[in-house]
Formats: sequence, structure tokens, C-alpha cells
Amino acid sequence: MSGSSVAGGSLTALAAEVGRDLERLDYFSPGWVRSRDGVFDVVIVGGGQSGLGAAFGLLRERVRNILVVDENPAGFEGPWDTYARMITLRTPKHLTGIDLGVGALTCRAWWEAQYGSAAWGALDKIPRGAWMAYLRWFREVLGIPVRNDAMVRLIEPQEGAVHRLTLEGGETLLARKVVLATGIQGGGEWHTPDFIRNNLPADRWAHTSQAIDFDALRGRRVGILGGGASAFDNAQHALNAGVAQVHVHIRRPALPTVTTPTWTTPPNTRSPTLS
Ligand SMILES: Cc1cc2nc3c(=O)[nH]c(=O)nc-3n(C[C@H](O)[C@H](O)[C@H](O)COP(=O)(O)OP(=O)(O)OC[C@H]3O[C@@H](n4cnc5c(N)ncnc54)[C@H](O)[C@@H]3O)c2cc1C
Repeated sequence: MSGSSVAGGSLTALAAEVGRDLERLDYFSPGWVRSRDGVFDVVIVGGGQSGLGAAFGLLRERVRNILVVDENPAGFEGPWDTYARMITLRTPKHLTGIDLGVGALTCRAWWEAQYGSAAWGALDKIPRGAWMAYLRWFREVLGIPVRNDAMVRLIEPQEGAVHRLTLEGGETLLARKVVLATGIQGGGEWHTPDFIRNNLPADRWAHTSQAIDFDALRGRRVGILGGGASAFDNAQHALNAGVAQVHVHIRRPALPTVTTPTWTTPPNTRSPTLS
């Protein structure tokens, strides 16, 4: 646990508060799992918020011999600072989770340490970049062991209830347990319709999951296929980047007006702005 390189004096104070809370929870006592040479107790594939949260959960249970691996460079795990292009999270700001009930680890504590509680009160939704900055802080303040630039290509069972993970490039890791926290892309692959892939030159189209050079589209007309959230995220992002026109194409006769998972989000009754 270290707060030394966390930016800003107020975050250093918050890191100390986190340390005190964890001390009270017996977080720093020795681990209890009998070690096996060269074998991690748990390897978590994916260093997004789920992977970091799972790692904290294990460390809190004093399972210490763990490793998180993520294919991205450090600080660029998940969608937030890569292919997501909305201005704020869609999730209400009051939802907590990966803090596992430690108040000093919440995004709210992180925000208030830097900008004050009035600023948190005035905030509608958490800005996308701020969420990623919070996740970076969370990882750092908890000292979660993450290996970046490491893509897991293969997981195979081995003798003795051990799993072998093969990374891109051939290096292998051994783990007793493997947690897949591979996020949205873990469920399949990004899809581009064949009529685009097979008929348009590669420099005329992109999938929203890719890095897109919006500067190169300045003053141009852009068509977007699909009318879901990412379509409108990319539309506003393109227009803000100087694209002249954006046309969103949807198959349905009308835009859906109900977000089906919304009912699963408990409303914060103190906030009159939630709909
Ligand atoms: C545009 C957009 C907006 C969203 N907005 C919201 C929102 O407002 N609120 C909300 O709750 N959710 C939102 N989501 C959903 C969001 O993806 C998840 O909430 C969040 O990212 C889930 O975290 P995660 O850790 O499960 O997955 P991710 O954040 O996707 O992290 C998974 C990580 O695993 C890595 N990985 C995958 N496979 C491998 C492999 N084989 N080897 C190594 N690394 C691997 C990935 O590169 C990634 O870094 C949004 C998603 C998108 C795309």
C-alpha cells in the first residue's frame, strides 16, 4: 500500500485514511494460503474495474499470491480512456462496488478529496476520464499487482489442479485458480457486417471499438450504422472534433425510448434529478 506517488496532497491524506481503514480490517496480516513454488494462487485475466475489484476482494481475504494481467498499457484498461466516447458515465454517481464497503475507497471519497463535498453534490454524473483516473488511483493506493501489455491467449488444465496460461509471445504462467474478468469483449468479438468489411476500403470505415482518427474526418460527412448508445456517443464526439455532419442510421422505425436495465439501478431518493 503506498500513497507516495498519488498526485496531490489531498489524495495523499486519503491514501493514509485508506491505510487506517484497512489496518482496522486486518488487511495487512500475513496471508494464509500455503504457497507452491512458481504457482500463483489466483491469476485474474483483465485489469478493468471487475478485475481490480476481484483482486481487492482476494487481498482483503488475505490471499496474497495473485496477479492481474491485462493486454493494455497501464492505466488504459477497459473502455474508458480507449474506445468509449461519451462525456460522462451513464451509471448514477452514487452506485458503489469495488470499494467493498470501505468508504475511503469510493469514487466519492476520491472526488471529494480533490474538489470538496460541495463539488460532489453539484456533480450530475461522473465524467468518463475521471472514472478512469479513479480506477488508476484505486489500483495504486491498494498496490494491486497488475502486469500490463500481457494478452492471455490460452488457458489449459495441468496436473495437480493447476492451470497454465500462455501469453502472447509464448511466456507461460501457472495458477491454481483463474478468474476471467475480460469485460465486454470477453463475451465474443466485435462485429462488422460483411457488406462493409468486404466492400469498403479499410480507410473508409472503422468499428467504434477501434482507435479512430477524428482529426482526419474534420469537415467531412460521417455515416454511423446502428442507433445504440455508442452510436450517439461517437456522433457527439465526431461533431465536437469538427466533423461537418453525422448521420445515424437505424433499422427500427423509431428509436427505443426505454433502457431495459435501468430498473436494476436503485434510485438515489435524495437526488431529485434522477429519472
Ligand atoms: C461505450 C461504453 C460505455 C459504457 N458505460 C458504462 C457506464 O456508464 N456504466 C457502467 O456501469 N458500465 C458501462 N459500460 C460497460 C462497461 O464495459 C463496464 O461497466 C465495465 O467496463 C466493466 O468492467 P470489466 O472490468 O468487467 O470489463 P472491462 O472494463 O472491459 O475490462 C476488461 C479488461 O480485460 C482485458 N482483456 C480482455 N481479454 C483479455 C485477455 N485475453 N488477456 C488480457 N487482457 C484481456 C480488456 O482489454 C480490458 O482491459 C460501458 C461500456 C462501453 C463500451
